[in-house]
Amino acid sequence: MKILISDAFDPSLPDRLRKYGEPTDDKQQLAEAEVVLVRSKTKCTREYIDSAPKLKMIIRGGVGLDNIDLEYAKQKNIQVFNTAAASSIAVAEMAFAHLIAIPNRLIEGHCTMKEGRWAKKELKRTELYGKTLGLIGIGRIGREVAQRARAFGMQVIAYDKYVDHTEHAELVMLDQLLERADFLSLHTPLTDETRGMVNADLIAKMKDGAIIINTGRGKVVDEADLAAALESGKVRAYGTDVWESDPPPESSPLLKAPNVFMTPHIGASSKENLLRIGDVICEILEEHYGS
Ligand code: NAD
Repeated sequence: MKILISDAFDPSLPDRLRKYGEPTDDKQQLAEAEVVLVRSKTKCTREYIDSAPKLKMIIRGGVGLDNIDLEYAKQKNIQVFNTAAASSIAVAEMAFAHLIAIPNRLIEGHCTMKEGRWAKKELKRTELYGKTLGLIGIGRIGREVAQRARAFGMQVIAYDKYVDHTEHAELVMLDQLLERADFLSLHTPLTDETRGMVNADLIAKMKDGAIIINTGRGKVVDEADLAAALESGKVRAYGTDVWESDPPPESSPLLKAPNVFMTPHIGASSKENLLRIGDVICEILEEHYGS
């Protein structure tokens, strides 16, 4: 059985897969593949699936399945799995890295010193302690972020359309969350409901000068509306790991907007997480193809 490793995984993975079949990272072999392993780069569209007549299983190393045409895979009797729980800690730590870096002015401090400037007077910090963190989405990653925020002495509130009980945060309605949050952290999947959710209307209801962190999906924000809010100072800063596309086009308004702090979609890319993802892939293959 041919197993196509289509995106970047831990280097130990091919050896671990030999027990179940013949791993390859040669994309020309898609037509022969029975199993395809993807992260977010490979787009499993209808055309992609049609190019893989032997395909029986797609495993997405990670959470979001928005790069896979699930409907068409189902029609073709292709099973689709993800490794949902593996990435929560890695992404929560990424959200927290932005949450710490922005109010502590780490990036400006570093960059101004590299430029030979001593910006001690201009770089005023703020503390997380006593501030309110508003989470949109309190699933696996949101809960891990909540736990870390409480350890920093933050009040944690959350809005989740599909959760009516959690011990990890005070659940509130969206409008209340926007009124109260000093920091807003986005943890929903990309769906028809969440696409463009953070737009001018939502931003208008936020506290002046709040900070938004996005380790969910880039398309959950309306880039033009957010760039305008950053220009006006309504939103003080935007820390993001996720983009409308990977990488963002040069025309993305966020690349030019002030106070945007960026990482290139590396939330799930910790060494430990890639190993955990490999563990889950092997568990799935063991269950379906193990002896
Ligand atoms: P999860 O399914 O455990 O949690 C998502 C939560 O969002 C759920 O509780 C759900 O009820 C809530 N939700 C869905 N629609 C909503 C809506 N319209 N309004 C409010 N809440 C809504 O998923 P998770 O493991 O916590 O992952 C969350 C997202 O993080 C993924 O879908 C993915 O897009 C993103 N992610 C990013 C990276 C990265 O590299 N930055 C890595 C992994 C996951």
